[in-house]
Amino acid sequence: MFNSWEELKTECLQCRKCELCETRTNLVFGVGNENAEVMFVGEGPGENEDLQGEPFVGRGGKLLDKYLEVIDLDRKKNIYIANMVKCRPPMNRDPKPDEMEGCIQWLREQTKLIRPKIIVCLGRISAQRLIDKEFRVTKQHGQFIEKGGILFMGTFHPAALLRNPNQKPDALEDFLALKEKIKEICDHTY
Ligand code: SF4
Repeated sequence: MFNSWEELKTECLQCRKCELCETRTNLVFGVGNENAEVMFVGEGPGENEDLQGEPFVGRGGKLLDKYLEVIDLDRKKNIYIANMVKCRPPMNRDPKPDEMEGCIQWLREQTKLIRPKIIVCLGRISAQRLIDKEFRVTKQHGQFIEKGGILFMGTFHPAALLRNPNQKPDALEDFLALKEKIKEICDHTY
């Protein structure tokens, strides 16, 4: 249990708990408002994220920022963004189960300090780990599910939307539903 954000970040930045530490350029801790009521959780850093040390900064990240802008969310202002694993899996492969198990401790500590009301899972990897191991993004996206006092919602990963642009209208609907939910249960996001 960490009492402060600085303590947590300092410890995390030195993490060598799994083999991903061997190939990372930068550990990607997370970005955003540490008092956010809404948290987004992706899969893991890609090449650009590894180089810059920030989540979602490549083409997918730019697309995510557009969706966020539509519903008045901004990583510099009123949300927090993190990933299931904080170091880049080589060749952008899926994180292995043991890497996720090792790394989820950091996400749990971040969540304890932020205490979000809503967590949005971006893509299959985080939705299956945080919501339901059978979660199917194409079927269950946009649904709010309460777990441990937090509302979870799974939606498409931005990289998947770049590959399948026909899913963009569904993703937009999810973000619009998120806006309504934020207005309903959050106090200071807007
Ligand atoms: S991926 Fe997570 S557990 Fe593995 S070295 Fe990086 S921070 Fe540590």
